[in-house]
Amino acid sequence: MVTAPSANAGQQPPWTPADSAATYGLDRWGEPYFSVNARGHVLVQPRGDRGGALDLVELVQELQGRDLSLPLLIRFDDILEDRLERLHAAFDRAFVQYGYAGRYQGVFPVKCNQQRHVVEQLVDSGRRWHFGLEAGSKAELLIALSLLDDPEALLICNGYKDQRYIETAILARRLGRRPVVVIEQADEVQRIIAASRELGAAPFIGIRAKLSARSSGRWGSSVGERAKFGLSIPDVLTTVEALRDAGLLADLRLLHFHIGSQISDIAVLKDALQEAGQIYGELVRLGAPMGYLDVGGGLGIDYDGSRTATAASTNYSLQNYANDVVATVRECCEPHGVPLPTLVSESGRAIASHFSVLVFDVLGAGGVSAEVPPPGDDEPLIVRNLRDTLAGIGDDNLQEAWNDAIKFKDDALSAFRLGYLSLPQRALAERLYWACCEAIATRLAQLPAGTPVAAELAELPRALAATYYANLSVFRSAPDTWAIDQLFPVMPVHRLNERPRRLGSFADLTCDSDGKLARFIDRGQVKTLLELHELRPGEPYWIGLFLGGAYQEVMGNLHNLFGSTNAVHIRLASGGGYQVDHVVRGDTNAEVLQAMEHDPAQLLERLRMASEAAIGRGDLAISDARRLMAHLRASLEQTTYLKG
Ligand SMILES: *Cc1c(COP(=O)(O)O)cnc(C)c1O
Repeated sequence: MVTAPSANAGQQPPWTPADSAATYGLDRWGEPYFSVNARGHVLVQPRGDRGGALDLVELVQELQGRDLSLPLLIRFDDILEDRLERLHAAFDRAFVQYGYAGRYQGVFPVKCNQQRHVVEQLVDSGRRWHFGLEAGSKAELLIALSLLDDPEALLICNGYKDQRYIETAILARRLGRRPVVVIEQADEVQRIIAASRELGAAPFIGIRAKLSARSSGRWGSSVGERAKFGLSIPDVLTTVEALRDAGLLADLRLLHFHIGSQISDIAVLKDALQEAGQIYGELVRLGAPMGYLDVGGGLGIDYDGSRTATAASTNYSLQNYANDVVATVRECCEPHGVPLPTLVSESGRAIASHFSVLVFDVLGAGGVSAEVPPPGDDEPLIVRNLRDTLAGIGDDNLQEAWNDAIKFKDDALSAFRLGYLSLPQRALAERLYWACCEAIATRLAQLPAGTPVAAELAELPRALAATYYANLSVFRSAPDTWAIDQLFPVMPVHRLNERPRRLGSFADLTCDSDGKLARFIDRGQVKTLLELHELRPGEPYWIGLFLGGAYQEVMGNLHNLFGSTNAVHIRLASGGGYQVDHVVRGDTNAEVLQAMEHDPAQLLERLRMASEAAIGRGDLAISDARRLMAHLRASLEQTTYLKG
């Protein structure tokens, strides 16, 4: 037995914004940027606790007024800057606490979000710390070279590198950039030597070490002997000797490691840091000038606010992370007289996750139809049984009625399969079943608080769960939910001062049964249904997907030809309010068709000819042909989503 979940409806305390914050975990993962205001709207404080707030719902309404339809990606550039500030402040505090006489000089891994306005904003905001960029491919190198114009900022070159990539990096040094070519594969050293001879100049050189420390979680295989990137210890030694022989040891400046993204358990990082710290000391003893220790990415995000070592969380804070990096590196270096390195991290997720919020609308809800027609003559026994069950529901037999309803519904299904029940009779049986569920649920909600209730009845809300149809493609906007079961906080952005009376999950616009959001954060666990509100006819219902600023945009694909959504960059204005810095229109249907090599003009022309033929046959009126062509032309110019 458990106790009744809620008190008598008449006596239920009113639902408050704080109840919503607790229900959706906002009070845990939202800090310090997202909360609920008194109107029951999500409130965004893009500069954290340093002042300035925007009502997300008002913002979306005003953006809609500018013809920016949903789904809409809102990028809060102040949050991006605030994340940078917090990262640097955390390292500064750790330096003081551990008496570390050194510096932190981070880089942003461009692969995390390559959008021009995002990279430009980061370079701009990061200038005061000489914050740099990390590139993992030639195209990313081009972005980094052209946008990063600060001669002191690092440009870390990772990934597979051919001769041209390496020569580009060497020549970029002459442009006044500070590229560090990180040797990730044993054979790259020979290409670096060859390119340096060819050009008579060398790049700054780094080595990526393959650590033996085991990681856990999804990216656990990024470390250890089988890792895709990095040099084994024997290879590190061979590489050092090759550089020495080529006269390039003086350019070896950096040791790098990366143990995978979203490190959930800080213990994993500590092991890696110790190992890397020792390797760093050895490289100094071997005669390399060094100077930089690059601890890679992996700084995690607490998506569910549970502060646990589970996949959607971390058991450490940003400050814990900085403290551990600083303290461990100091412990490895100081006792052996190794000068303390400048610390570099390639934190992508931790910088870029918070700043973008995806708001989408719900187009409708599927679910149960519990309207029951009056009894007809000679209804089958199964249907009569369900009618009796419904009629007999009372406060003292809720569990029995629930068990009966389930049994009779199952009977109806079996009878239908065997041909004893017609389709209309089966439909009637299902309606009666839903009517029983709703009647039981209503009575349950009205029991006085504390009334003992059978545990089986806890399953009832799930039976009544609804599918909410979302104007969205998860493959485009939240691909990691599908590809790697990533959890993001998802919640309504308004009506948060109303009790959510339904449980539901989301189905997206694609014709793919995987196109759904049906896994939600639940304090270290996962729930398959989310608390949602009843839809009101003619009223929009807006949902926010939060913390998706890293990786989602570029991993998103054109499944079913749903393209990018509209996006805007918002900044708090100095005199209060906000300014819209950039508007990035979502892909139109014409653009996604062109991406697949279709020519929209040609498609239109073929359809025009087909309609001419239909007019000729007398199958289509000229006015209807004009209407058809107008719809087609308009669709080509519009985004790929529905006008809610
Ligand atoms: C992906 C990647 C990163 C970024 O990792 P985050 O977990 O997003 O911080 C950093 N460095 C390298 C080499 C990477 O491959």
